Amino acid sequence: MCSVNFMDTTLSVEEQAVADRIQELKDMLGEDLLILGHHYQRDSIVMHADFLGDSFMLSQKAAESKAKHIVFCGVHFMAESADILTSDDQNVILPNLRAGCSMADMATLSEVEVAWDEILKESGLKDPITRDDPGQPVGKEEAYLVPVTYMNSSADLKDFVGRHGGVVCTSSNAEGVLNWAFERAGPKGAVLFFPDQHLGRNTGLAMGISTEHMPTWTPGIGAMGELKGARIVLWHGFCSVHKRFTPQQIHEFRAQYPDGIVVVHPECPRETVELADANGSTQYIRNFVNDQPAGSSIAIGTEINMVARLAAEHPDKHIECLDEEICPCSTMYMIHPAYLMDVLERLVDGEVPNQIVVPQDVQAGSLLALNRMLAILK
Ligand code: SF4
Repeated sequence: MCSVNFMDTTLSVEEQAVADRIQELKDMLGEDLLILGHHYQRDSIVMHADFLGDSFMLSQKAAESKAKHIVFCGVHFMAESADILTSDDQNVILPNLRAGCSMADMATLSEVEVAWDEILKESGLKDPITRDDPGQPVGKEEAYLVPVTYMNSSADLKDFVGRHGGVVCTSSNAEGVLNWAFERAGPKGAVLFFPDQHLGRNTGLAMGISTEHMPTWTPGIGAMGELKGARIVLWHGFCSVHKRFTPQQIHEFRAQYPDGIVVVHPECPRETVELADANGSTQYIRNFVNDQPAGSSIAIGTEINMVARLAAEHPDKHIECLDEEICPCSTMYMIHPAYLMDVLERLVDGEVPNQIVVPQDVQAGSLLALNRMLAILK
């Protein structure tokens, strides 16, 4: 099993007692237990994870796992995806049920259904659900609307996407997924991309699609821009953490470190991504920082727990968060070690606490959409 590379964490006496108890409980549960940790979790959680990764890597680990109990130290949509990808006799557990994602909450099924009908009507495109084989490529003369949802979305949206011939993406595979979707939309077709406008726009621009072919859809308001001839219709969602990173911060960092390098997450606004030296998923950012030579000065535009961990792992480099005000993800931070200890205690006692169960009626479509993603190379 791959072990997690984390830095020595200085813990108080109370925190050390919790950490020791978590280790005892892990030992008792043995191979029945798998703990998955997202890069944005605090060190005192990451130190207990069997795997640390981004949402793509963790979804792969969940799909491959045979463990009876999978404790997901991340947010709600990640645990839902893990439940969809695992068998019925495996339990997926979220240590704090309040750990959601504000971006995922920006698109609901009813809002997407309204948008879908309106966009089909206004654009003249066809719904892939009308075909016998909605997940297959189409001919040059055909023009469909294909839905693509970011992993950061609820299971009922993934089900919608799967049923309508679409696919899930993460920030590490968005371009590959969009290429897949365009083969199913046709050269005159389009993609409806939700909920993160920035990931969709930044990926579309990197693929050579102009902003005039990427109108935005805001629930309750409608389209901003021309739907006829659009290639990507962007949902008006965003990440409250990543939208804080600005071009001004990059200018200030470069004024202080003229040879400094800036790497940001593609959930950041377009202007920030365009000014940065590089952009990519959390795993990409980790690899990017690893590849820089000793003595480098690097500013990172992503969540602070991950930036602080990278800084501690690379004492030979100057690493700082692009936003001086510090920007933790408040919902990721809801996974406290005490909650992790509590769910493990209850598992040892024979309970299954805080289980995430995706309703049966949305399992099939969401599994289809996730499996299509897992089959696409990055
Ligand atoms: S960092 Fe942003 S997208 Fe990720 S879980 Fe937090 S709010 Fe959601």
